[in-house]
Amino acid sequence: MSDFDAIVIGGGIAGASIGYELSSDRSVCLLEMEDALAFHTTGRSAATFLEALGTDQIRGLTTGSRAFLENPPEMIESAPLSPLPLLMYAKHGRSVAIKEFYEAVNRWVPNSELLDASQVIEHCPVMREEHVESGFYDPNAMELDVQAIHQGYVRGFRANGGKIHRSEKVVSMKHESGIWEVSTSAGNSYRAPIVVNAAGAWGDEVAKLAGVATCGLVPKVRTIFMVNSPSGNDTKDLPIVGDIDGAYYFKPEGNQFLVSPMDQTPSAPCDASADEIEIARALDELNAATTINAKSVNSNWGGLRTFVADENPVLGFDPHVEGFFWMVGQGGYGIQTSPAVARLSAALVRGQGAPKDLVDRGVDTQVLAPGRPSLLPK
Ligand SMILES: Cc1cc2nc3c(=O)[nH]c(=O)nc-3n(C[C@H](O)[C@H](O)[C@H](O)COP(=O)(O)OP(=O)(O)OC[C@H]3O[C@@H](n4cnc5c(N)ncnc54)[C@H](O)[C@@H]3O)c2cc1C
Repeated sequence: MSDFDAIVIGGGIAGASIGYELSSDRSVCLLEMEDALAFHTTGRSAATFLEALGTDQIRGLTTGSRAFLENPPEMIESAPLSPLPLLMYAKHGRSVAIKEFYEAVNRWVPNSELLDASQVIEHCPVMREEHVESGFYDPNAMELDVQAIHQGYVRGFRANGGKIHRSEKVVSMKHESGIWEVSTSAGNSYRAPIVVNAAGAWGDEVAKLAGVATCGLVPKVRTIFMVNSPSGNDTKDLPIVGDIDGAYYFKPEGNQFLVSPMDQTPSAPCDASADEIEIARALDELNAATTINAKSVNSNWGGLRTFVADENPVLGFDPHVEGFFWMVGQGGYGIQTSPAVARLSAALVRGQGAPKDLVDRGVDTQVLAPGRPSLLPK
């Protein structure tokens, strides 16, 4: 006999959002190993909503999330989106990369523009003109209130009758007669016909516990640090700015800048921390390209962005083991895609096809499926 219709493993944005969607008509229990639900990657993001970035599947899932975030249900108590244009720039000799990027993304962000060096400076006066050859500008990019979104999902899940157990690490899983028995570090066991693996960087570890073949998830450390703006000025009219070759980016935050070296160093799943060498490199890049003149770092943190080889999420039932649903591999886009990923995943759990608005955006369940050819060991 089962206790629930589904057990969700992981209380980050993936677990909270699928928990919310499924609990509208099913009994669902969510298990999180930490004391706090968004302790790992979800609590460490740069909080941006950038429709131009990622693979085409990611772009389809991001654009397919905008309507939800613009008009969220009432359990999300403050507006999750606020304007934050995106400016990508090319150093001398790299305008070809800006043009290629513009051509690849224009259909997703039709209001985007190509800029010359002087237009880049108009949009971002702290850039040094001699450092810049050209740029790309997306006026419709946004900043996200990650806490409002995550807490909103949790609130909605609870209002639907969903149960949350924190400080309960899943340590073993057994599948018998169509029912999963999931046991935790607290000595408790929970039973359900469906298990959702929303364990982020630990997705393959959870698969191993279940006796399911892994899908090649690679957690990669990304560092973030904060510096003061020149003379502590408010930065509110500036865009988020990134080097087209991925050397670093900076984002205005009150009277500071959030900066990332855009590092992606493979790691075992862990409580990640910032990479000091990457911070030093990004500070040099920032000071060469801008007049910010950052001398010291106010704070820093690291988090794990987890990818499979083709950098698309892995969403769907495992093809070989009954009742084991994958919801992992969101990489650097798990917050901005969460509304569409949760809607799509809930439809697949219910045995339905993908929502039409996502299919119209090119979202393809075969391309996202566990067991797809690009995930098979080479
Ligand atoms: C520095 C950085 C910047 C980013 N910037 C952005 C951004 O601007 N926009 C954006 O959309 N995305 C961004 N991302 C990516 C985004 O944060 C992730 O895609 C997203 O948070 C992943 O959510 P998740 O729920 O899958 O993982 P997590 O938040 O890590 O949640 C997984 C949970 O599973 C739990 N768990 C694992 N194993 C077990 C077990 N055995 N038992 C019980 N619980 C378990 C973990 O404790 C964890 O809480 C960024 C990521 C980083 C690191």
